[in-house]
Parts: sequence; structure tokens; C-alpha cells
Amino acid sequence: MNRDNFLSSVDAWFKQGELQEVLAKRIAYKTEGDLPEAPQELWDYLKNEIIPYLTGMGFISTVFDNPLPDAAPILVARLIEDVNLPTLLIYAHGDVVNGQDSRWQEGLNPWVLSVDGERWYGRGSADNKGQHTITFFGLAKALEARSGKLGYNVTVLMEMGEEAGSPGLAEFCENNKELLKADLLIASDGPRINAETPTIFLGSRGLVNFSLLVKARDKAYHSGNWGGVLVNPATRLVHALSSLIDARGRILLDGIKAPAVDSLIKEALKSVTVGNGKGDPEIDLSWGQSELTSAERLFASNTLEILALGSGQSERPVNAIPSQAIAHCQLRFVVGTDWQNLLEYVREHLVASGFDDVVVKVNAHTPATRLDLKNPWVNWVKSSIENTTGKQVTVLPNLAGSLPNDVFADILGLPTIWVPHSYPACNQHAPNEHMLKSVAAEGLQMMAGIFWDLSEKSSTANSSWD
Ligand SMILES: [Zn+2]
Repeated sequence: MNRDNFLSSVDAWFKQGELQEVLAKRIAYKTEGDLPEAPQELWDYLKNEIIPYLTGMGFISTVFDNPLPDAAPILVARLIEDVNLPTLLIYAHGDVVNGQDSRWQEGLNPWVLSVDGERWYGRGSADNKGQHTITFFGLAKALEARSGKLGYNVTVLMEMGEEAGSPGLAEFCENNKELLKADLLIASDGPRINAETPTIFLGSRGLVNFSLLVKARDKAYHSGNWGGVLVNPATRLVHALSSLIDARGRILLDGIKAPAVDSLIKEALKSVTVGNGKGDPEIDLSWGQSELTSAERLFASNTLEILALGSGQSERPVNAIPSQAIAHCQLRFVVGTDWQNLLEYVREHLVASGFDDVVVKVNAHTPATRLDLKNPWVNWVKSSIENTTGKQVTVLPNLAGSLPNDVFADILGLPTIWVPHSYPACNQHAPNEHMLKSVAAEGLQMMAGIFWDLSEKSSTANSSWD
């Protein structure tokens, strides 16, 4: 069988509907990963759904307890053809965000796959069950077509706590480097740049969530009796904020700004358009750094967002000076930002600007990662997908959002290539989440093509991937 025949057979198989049926079974598991307590379904999904499927392909699976107490299990499944062959690591997550059951549009249920034209609705259809179902079938088809011999080993790492911030994943990988030893990571999560364009990304932006609190006193005081002689914490807070970020959303504090966008990244983002899809909001062209394009602002720079502000009773104001004011802020940042020192930068800046009454606290953080655009795997995967689809692939240096990619890039030291099968208006994390049938069909072709091409690569050059 040659590559073209193989891919046509995969497409013919897709049209018979088995992938959709399997996805429907997977969506029926309420694997909500963001609940205070890990539900039994997280284990059931692995035991009843994923392990039997992977076993059918020849994988040997082990479910590990999370190294952190009460956190979700982690599956490692291995298909070892020969220990001397190169190994591909595939990452996926089987948990989903909570169903928000009552908020779905009439006739839809998050736990039942419902088809409406091009759309396959269901919780996890886009994030991440639909995506890993596509990946696993792509691999299964390549295995079948090559009579059970890929010419490389495959390790699947599936966590069940991604939506809770991947607790224990870093520790698990740190403790199991030998078991997870590989040559390349390919994973599918997040959106394409738009529904029509095959996309790869090489890492993700990081984030630091932090809060600023001004607490003036224990209770509120009447503004008529005390206004003018008592400090108002809300006034203090908004001025402190405006010393960090200007009225057009530009970061004012040097220590947390992004490094200049280098020429390779500029080149990669040159033809990338942000937004314009159905259901996308209109881009505010006057927002952010005017010297950058929209794509550079989103993928190659940092943003400081005020996520929530609290003081007084905003729903029902009273005539009083509030006792305190709080701002929950977030820095999204790219590789090269000195984010580890954010707390010191913000504190020192506020003190120097006369805001020593503002208490700064860091609440959560995820590092940023980005595989070098010159890494040979980038062009290799891009060419494979272009051969399969006949379309130009968009290469994003990193996803604008965040993923636990530092675990693979930094702890396991792998080149990381993400091949997403969702699109920006998929309603991920919201009611009416869906997968597009056209993207599923094309995604399956792309994955099958990549797995096929990895076999071809392994059969030449001393079966090494270097
Ligand atoms: Zn998610």
C-alpha cells in the first residue's frame, strides 16, 4: 500500500462513522476534572474505554496513582517494538471541565454526542476527547496498514487532571524520566488558527495570576461623616493599577515586558490573521502595542489583564468608603520574560511609586515554552501535513493560551509539536462545546499521514530519527 492509497482508505473508513460512535461513548463518561474531589469516572474512563482500546492495538498500560494526594490518576501505555528504535510520546487528557448542563442550548446534553450539520456537540468533543480519539485512530490505521510494525515505539501519557491545572504531572514526569524517555512529543489540544487552516504550535505562553490588595481598615465608614479624612482603598488601587498598565492595555513596568519579537518569529507570524472567524469578537485595533501586528500581540508578546476587581458592593452601592479593594490580575507571557521575579518587580515598583499600602500576592503560575523554529521537526511535521492536505500549514511559535508543555519541553527535554484539531469558536470550557466534522476528517488524515511518515523515516537512516 502506498501513502495515497492509505490515506484514501482512512478517509473512506471515517465516512462510515465509527470514529463518531467511539467518540460518543467517550463523551458519555462524566470525567469532570475540575471538581473539588476527583470522581470515579476518571478511573472508569481509563479502565473501560482507553485501556481496552489501546490494548487492542498492542499497547501495555499501567495506571499510576498521582504523586499528589487525592489527585487524578495518570495512564502510561507503551507499544514497544524494539528498545533500540526511536520513541514517540503522545500526550492527551481524558478529563473535561464541568458540564454546565443546564446552560446548553435546547435539545443538547453535554454527555450525549449530538450531531447538527457539521457540528458534533458534547463536553470534551473539542477538549480533549475528540482530539485524542482522532490521534489514536490515526495511529491504529497506520499500524493496520503496516501489518502491526511501525518501525518506532509509542508511549501514550494520558492525565486526568489537566482541567485542574495538571496537579502532579510535573512530579510524575520528574520521577519517571526513564519510563517516558522519547525522541519527540506530538500532542493535540487547543484550537487551529481557524477552521480551514491546518496549524501546528510549538509551545505555549505562560501565565502568572496575582492579586493586589489594599486593606485600609476592618469596616466601611459613612462617606458623609468621614469622606475627605479617610483613605479610600478603591481609589488607591485603581491608581496603583494604572501605574502598571496604561489606558490602551500597554504594560508600563519594564521588568514584566516581553523581549523584542525576533525576525524568525515575525516571519512565522507574517501571514497569520487573528479573528475574523464566525463567532469571533471584533478585534480592537487600537488596543495594545501599536508597533506590533495583531498576531504578534497575541502570540509573541505579553499582556497584563485585570480579571476581576472588587470593592464596596458593586451590585448595590451604599454611601460609604469601602474598607478594602482587591484586583485579580494575570500576566500572559512569552519565552524570555523574567516572570519568576514578577513579585519583586511589582512590589518594588509600587513602593517606589508611593503605593506601599498595596499587598501583592502570586496565586498561580505556568512557565512559557517554545521549541526553536529552526528545529528540524518543525519543517518535517509541516511538510507531512502539507503533503496530506495540499494546504499551507500555519506554524505558530506558541499557543497564546497555556498548556503543561514545560513538563515535556523542560523536564523530559523533548522537541514538542502540537497539532490541534479544534477551532477558535468551538465553545471549549463553555456550553455547546463542539467538534467540526470537517476538522475531524482532516485531522484524522493529518495524524495518519504523520504516523505513516514516521514509519518511512524510521525505515531509512539507520532507523534513527536524528
Ligand atoms: Zn481544557
